[in-house]
Parts: sequence; structure tokens; C-alpha cells
Amino acid sequence: MLILLTNDDGIHSAGLQALAEHLQSLGRVVVVAPDRERSAVGHALTLHSPLRAEEITKDHWAVSGTPTDAVILGICTLLKEKPDLVISGINKGGNLGDDLTYSGTVAAAMEATLMGVPAIAISLASQSFKYDDFADAAGVAKQLAATVIEHGLPADTFINVNVPDRKPLGIRLTRQGKRVYEDAVVEKCDPRGRCYYWIGAGEFGFQDLAGTDFNAVHNGYVSVTPLHLDLTNYSAMDRLRQWQLEEMQFDAAGAGSST
Ligand code: MN
Repeated sequence: MLILLTNDDGIHSAGLQALAEHLQSLGRVVVVAPDRERSAVGHALTLHSPLRAEEITKDHWAVSGTPTDAVILGICTLLKEKPDLVISGINKGGNLGDDLTYSGTVAAAMEATLMGVPAIAISLASQSFKYDDFADAAGVAKQLAATVIEHGLPADTFINVNVPDRKPLGIRLTRQGKRVYEDAVVEKCDPRGRCYYWIGAGEFGFQDLAGTDFNAVHNGYVSVTPLHLDLTNYSAMDRLRQWQLEEMQFDAAGAGSST
């Protein structure tokens, strides 16, 4: 069994170290991760500068790029064979609801899925991030890794796992919930009187709906959400069909007009 680990908090993060240690008993574990924190870079790819990969200790590669870069380098170049599983995490902080579209942790699992490798993204919804805090989440990761290997995942699908900040009561299969954004931008003044802005510094709420990832974690359960890469909103198709877009003609100036 060959398992590739990555994250977006950087190769020195406690969550990644805890994950690597707990998974050793399942097979060979190779870490390929960004050389520094790259949280909230989403699915960014480095296309316009060279990438470096340094093996800082055996099977621990630090990459000078994003989590997505790390997965691509790991699978295509650094590992000499295709891994059986990619696990991204354990992230410092939950990746729940709308927030997972920003997440480098989730994007790394997405990239592995695109490359045909089963993948798990795992995050700890906590305020404290010492090494020991990640023990329960690492145990969850190990059990889920074995389960994914045993059953395989449906095509085009990976799982997003969030672990509560206390001993988990169990696992809940969930759907992606909704964030409530308030005070999303904090405005302050620097010592020279110029304004600066800080995104995401305020308190965020969420819609506490049954069946969602937020609800499960809030109630002390591990949330497991199956995600896929097809962003199409199939339920919106019928409404947009009424716009008759496919009947639209274009005049010489390029402006659209319905016939
Ligand atoms: Mn992170």
C-alpha cells in the first residue's frame, strides 16, 4: 500500500505529522506538501515560475508551490508509482459548507480525484492546534483510509471529512452546509493613517440545518461528505431552458437578441 499525504498548512504542520505517524501501519507513507502555509489558495496551480522539490527527510518532500502542485509533482514525478490513496490534511480548522471552495486542503483531494487516485480531505474543526489535538482526527483518518481502500470510491468522487474538537460521538454522512457571512471585511488604519482591510477576521455563523456538515460537527460527530467535481446545477437546467438561450441569434455588433 502506497499512501501520498499532502496539506495546505505546510510540511511542518502538526496535523500533517500526526497523520503521517498514524498511517505508517497501513503501508508506505510519502509526504509531498507545500514548504510553507498555503491555506485558502483553493485549486491554484503554478504555471509561470519553476517549482522546486526538496526531500528534507526520507519520503518527506517540501514543494515550493501550492497543494495542487504538490499532488501533481508527487503523482507524476516524485513517487515512482501511482499511489493507492491520497490524503490531504489534517487541516488546522474545519472545511465546511461554502468555505471548502476556498480550501487548498480540499483542492488537493480534488486534484488527486482528477488524476484517478482515491482521495480524502480531512480537517479538525478546533481552536487549538497542538500536536496532541490531532490524535483523534488521525485515528479517524486511519479508519477511513482503510475503508476507502476496501470499498473504493464512486467515479469522480472524494470524501471531505471534518472532525469535531472533542472525542467524536460517531460518524454522520452529510451534505455541504451554508455559511452565514457577517463582518466579512474588517477595516483598520495603519500607524501612518492609511486604511487596510482584513478578510475573514470576523465571527462566522452557519445555518444549523439537519443533515449538513456544520450540524454534524457542531453536535460532536465526524462529518463525511461525498463531493464530486461536476459543478453543474442540474436542478437549474429547467429554469434556464425557459430563457431559450439556444434560440438566441447574434447581430454583427455581437449583441444578443431573441428571435
Ligand atoms: Mn489550512
